[in-house]
Amino acid sequence: MTEVFTGNFTQQEPIPEAAIEAAVRVMRSGRLHRYNLLPGEVGEVSRLEEEFATVTGARYCLAVASGGYALACALRAVGVRPGDRVLANAFTLAPVPGAIASVGAVPVFVEVTEDLVIDLDDLQSKIGQARVLMLSHMRGHICDMDRLMAICEAAEVQVIEDCAHTMGAAWAGVPSGRHGVIGCYSTQTYKHINSGEGGLLVSDDAEVMARAILLSGSYMLYGRHTAAPPAEMFEKIKFETPNISGRMDHLRAAILRVQLADLPTQTQRWNVLYTRLETGLSGIPGVRLVPRPQAESYVGSSFQFLLPDCPPDRVRAFLSAAAARGVELKWFGAPEPVAFTSRHDSWRYAPPQSLPQTDRVLAGLIDLRLPLTFTEADIDLIARILREEWGRLAS
Ligand SMILES: *Cc1c(COP(=O)(O)O)cnc(C)c1O
Repeated sequence: MTEVFTGNFTQQEPIPEAAIEAAVRVMRSGRLHRYNLLPGEVGEVSRLEEEFATVTGARYCLAVASGGYALACALRAVGVRPGDRVLANAFTLAPVPGAIASVGAVPVFVEVTEDLVIDLDDLQSKIGQARVLMLSHMRGHICDMDRLMAICEAAEVQVIEDCAHTMGAAWAGVPSGRHGVIGCYSTQTYKHINSGEGGLLVSDDAEVMARAILLSGSYMLYGRHTAAPPAEMFEKIKFETPNISGRMDHLRAAILRVQLADLPTQTQRWNVLYTRLETGLSGIPGVRLVPRPQAESYVGSSFQFLLPDCPPDRVRAFLSAAAARGVELKWFGAPEPVAFTSRHDSWRYAPPQSLPQTDRVLAGLIDLRLPLTFTEADIDLIARILREEWGRLAS
């Protein structure tokens, strides 16, 4: 009998009951806007910011409307101006070049390695072209952060970290998002904590964070933030910083606080699934798994493997054979972007760039999500199906 997988790769777990109760409390209060507080009340948004600052070890935190908003806000806060060039990974998701374009800046793409991290030699060769690097830890893969920071510090390039896939991860014990001047996170449904839409920024830099808070639409109510720099920081800049509204509300903050407390447990659960799939797919000829460095602690919420130099027709045949058995794979090598898998050559508002190494890696890159609604038995079945269908094509 041919086994078929019937799980859903985009089905998240329900919002925890305690979070639902917290959300209902906020709704009963009628005070959903972050600055709509009773005298002496701190509010869910500021509490979330305090807690996320504690979790990441950051001095300051700001909650905003989306991960993409966090990225654009970070670019403005470090002073990126229209026409400036910004270094970015060629292998990333559309919100990254989109954030750069939203401030009128121009992305300069850096190649990806076969280990799915930014190519530090290519970064070194391009470092003189910009003052800022927007670094994506794409699909949760973290590069050698010590070497990256050495390259950027030597060139006085500021690093903004896009931690959409690394909330809860770390490099050599330092939480992801804490190497650069700002770390940006997403709380969108497909990330590690789920408020539908949402984002967070962390920083130790008082002036940068004061700018970010003003930019996010704080009016002159920044004094109600509790994970913020002192009031003097705002005095200098409050008349010259535009309000570009993108605040978070208490409803979303309330459901995120409960999930943030659960993140270490969820991370362990994701990594059990990840390791199981890694074991299930190891040793298949023609399939390259991505090694995970010792220094990296990751959150295995998605899984990637490479079919190096596999002809496109064979990749397509594999994808459709897997799909026929219920295993939905994403391919970064398709000529047209599908769902979330867009590629540098589909961001045509940016100048075209030659990235032969990235093109070669993406041509064989397969991606799948590991939602926590999957069981270990589901993972074993997925691995069996992929192994059988790849084997069938090879024979
Ligand atoms: C999801 C994501 C973002 C932010 O996305 P939003 O949908 O705006 O929250 C940024 N970068 C990457 C790599 C992402 O996957």
